[in-house]
Amino acid sequence: MARYTGPVCKLCRREGEKLLLKGERCFTPKCALERRAYAPGMHGRQAQFRRKESDYSLQLREKQKARRIYGVLERQFRRYFKEAERRKGLTGVNLLILLESRLDNVVYRLGFADSRAQARQLVRHGHFDVNGRKTDIPSFLVKPGDVIAVRERSKKLTYFKDLSAVIEHKVVPEWLSLDISKMEGRVLALPTREDIDASLNEQLIVEYYSR
Ligand code: SF4
Repeated sequence: MARYTGPVCKLCRREGEKLLLKGERCFTPKCALERRAYAPGMHGRQAQFRRKESDYSLQLREKQKARRIYGVLERQFRRYFKEAERRKGLTGVNLLILLESRLDNVVYRLGFADSRAQARQLVRHGHFDVNGRKTDIPSFLVKPGDVIAVRERSKKLTYFKDLSAVIEHKVVPEWLSLDISKMEGRVLALPTREDIDASLNEQLIVEYYSR
């Protein structure tokens, strides 16, 4: 599946807020947004003083922000939206639940990776089993009861050996549980809106696709 391969800090500068796409670096003074808090490009600085944004532009920016946080390209994001519409309940919340249920996001939320991009790479490289079966598809959607575990052979890698010391300090959301000794996590339930900390206004995304 295709993914964005350009400079990621530009994406935060475009959205004007930290999307935390680079793990630890995002919390240091090296963060590009700390040093250049304006939009990228020739007219980036002037953009700060532009007139009030239109409703369309607010909706578009929110949709782009969600795509960028979860590392999903437009076509796939649209497919998630269609699926969210099809499901019972609020479309916007359904959309966020679908995005949160992606395997790469779950690996990130469990603390096995510093960022979703890194989680995606770990999944692609085949370091995880889901319910005992090797699963290397980042967009795989987990469901309640699923067990996501670091594969036996991967546990011997320095990365995972070192990780076991730091992972215990990470906070795992309530809809997941983590067994550090086994290096595996379990999906206890699908997340609710309150469980999803992304500073997203899903209603604006729904409005964007409902134009
Ligand atoms: Fe965004 Fe992180 Fe880059 Fe800062 S360091 S601009 S938060 S990706």
